[in-house]
Amino acid sequence: MFIEPSRRRDPPHLRTGWIEVICGSMFSGKTEELIRRLNRARIAKLKVQIFKPALDNRYHAENIVSHSAVAIHSSPVQTASQILLLAGDCEVVGIDETQFFDKEIVSICNELANQGKRVIVAGLDMDFAGNPFGCMPQLMGIAEYVTKVHAICVVCGDIAHYSYRLVPSQERVLLGETDSYEARCRRCFNLGDDAVRKEWAYEDVKNDD
Ligand code: ZN
Repeated sequence: MFIEPSRRRDPPHLRTGWIEVICGSMFSGKTEELIRRLNRARIAKLKVQIFKPALDNRYHAENIVSHSAVAIHSSPVQTASQILLLAGDCEVVGIDETQFFDKEIVSICNELANQGKRVIVAGLDMDFAGNPFGCMPQLMGIAEYVTKVHAICVVCGDIAHYSYRLVPSQERVLLGETDSYEARCRRCFNLGDDAVRKEWAYEDVKNDD
């Protein structure tokens, strides 16, 4: 489990910011982990601000809500540069669904950290096709700390790190939940639907004997 570094006892001129990345597939608990870290910062009486892209309005326009329905207040923003304007004098900046932001998000996270803020970004590391998503690879490159969280493959129960799309759309951004995506391991992701069905039907027959 990630334990936040503490630099609070350093003299002010020695205090420095840093970047943490929390990444993984859908259903891997990224947002829960983000909320856990932000709540701990609040307990430490740090000023916390949370942002998310305005396009992600699956649950509630102003709250970050994870799949397990833990909510935390957040500000929807249209562009990455708005985060810099709105972050003000806060000490900890949380950003959810970071993969949807424009490429400016990389320099903005750096700028915030250079100002002495702790920046925690959460986002999908891969899209539905298994390709790196948005600026997440760049953010992982510049971050001090990277945490990759994993889901469980709903087909076989192994560790999953792919978001498998259940609907035929080829659009890169298709917001949805359990009706549109499921977590899959590498093998079940590559097998595709027909092969998975065949394999597991075969297993069922064997188990019935
Ligand atoms: Zn699997």
